[in-house]
Amino acid sequence: MLNDRVAIVTGASRGIGRCVAEYLANCGAKIVAVSRKQEDTAQLVDSIRQQGGEAVSVAADVSRVDDVERMVEAAQQAFGKIDILVNNAGITRDGLLARMKDEDWDGVMDINLKGAFLSTRAAAKVMSKQRYGRIINITSVVGQMGNIGQANYCASKAGLMGLTRSNARELARRNVTVNAVAPGFIETDMTADLPEKVRQDMLNQIPLGRFGSPQDIAGAVAFLASEQAGYITGHELSVNGGMYM
Ligand code: NAP
Repeated sequence: MLNDRVAIVTGASRGIGRCVAEYLANCGAKIVAVSRKQEDTAQLVDSIRQQGGEAVSVAADVSRVDDVERMVEAAQQAFGKIDILVNNAGITRDGLLARMKDEDWDGVMDINLKGAFLSTRAAAKVMSKQRYGRIINITSVVGQMGNIGQANYCASKAGLMGLTRSNARELARRNVTVNAVAPGFIETDMTADLPEKVRQDMLNQIPLGRFGSPQDIAGAVAFLASEQAGYITGHELSVNGGMYM
């Protein structure tokens, strides 16, 4: 489905990003796996290669412009083009509004929102010249609903949706689509430490009666990255078990 497409996946060292990278590789894409430390994506790259795929790892902090430009250059050097960008890198720094520290606000905005802006700006230059591209931003159900204790995170994800729609309009003429996948509650390191009561309350809100898996998200990303999704742009695809509709 994605034979010979080149995909940059940010935040590929674990969780959703790692699963997305593996899934796209299984669909035939060549992978540029990005996280802050190269050794954290080395095992993923080895396993893709062992299965006959192609992959390289790049160390980059997506909130730093120099790193992001290096990331895009490394992708071009390795594979000669960039067809797919998955802006997945993200963090939480939760706290109630009254107690939220400025650095917790800035840290989340810098990685979740500015990181996607910097990566998109750099990759879109290449995609625009190619007259082909698929950009997929990982937002969140709480960007749609809001959530107590996550003003910074929810604002970053809602902002990412504004960025998605603006970039979709701006890049459409170059045959570059820009979409988002909004996960619900997905079992990864990010959600592993939540207290049992919070998990149970959350589960009660999910009509499909289970938490999501990284595979649930990877399938949605692969669809939006495919040829078949060529007439979809500016869309936010909810993958949340019905938690918000
Ligand atoms: P995770 O397990 O904590 O993984 C986060 C990934 O982001 C790691 O690979 C991490 O790599 C990378 N990362 C963090 N800061 C980075 C930076 N400055 N530069 C480059 N990479 C960075 O999280 P996850 O649950 O897989 O979440 C992935 C995405 O899905 C995030 O955007 C998250 O907001 C979103 N999401 C998750 C859920 C959920 O329930 N899990 C729900 C909705 C949305 P290193 O730390 O190794 O650099």
